[in-house]
Amino acid sequence: MSHPLPTPVRRPHATQADLGPASTWGQYALEHPILGHVPGKLFLGSALDLTGAEISVGVMEPGAAVPFLHTHRQNEEIYLFLGGSGEFQVDGEIFPVREGSVVRVAPAGRRCWRNTGADSLVHLVIQVKAGSLEQATLEDGSVPPDAPVW
Ligand code: ZN
Repeated sequence: MSHPLPTPVRRPHATQADLGPASTWGQYALEHPILGHVPGKLFLGSALDLTGAEISVGVMEPGAAVPFLHTHRQNEEIYLFLGGSGEFQVDGEIFPVREGSVVRVAPAGRRCWRNTGADSLVHLVIQVKAGSLEQATLEDGSVPPDAPVW
């Protein structure tokens, strides 16, 4: 049984969704046309009106693994592990990941991961088009003259 994402709040220049504590994200599930019911996976792109990235949260229970390798056509992925521990593999090379690990995988990287720990493996996956970033932070940001009012 999957729990629906609470309705996001849309403002002119911001969209907000509250997923609840990460320890509860296992309640979400993805209904995938090929994989069927995928527990603990939730994509946020359409809910947040994202236009340049896709973000998903994932909660993998102890002993579980993604049952296939996958690649992407255009997008690189950044995996941020928020809790638990496991193993990640890219192109057959296996390395440990744990809370605090961040892994970038190029589109062609054949990837998979699994939970080898005793706790849930909690992670975010950010997908962006490889090579699309033209500027960031100091080059892209600007500071309007008015100060914040709280
Ligand atoms: Zn992917």
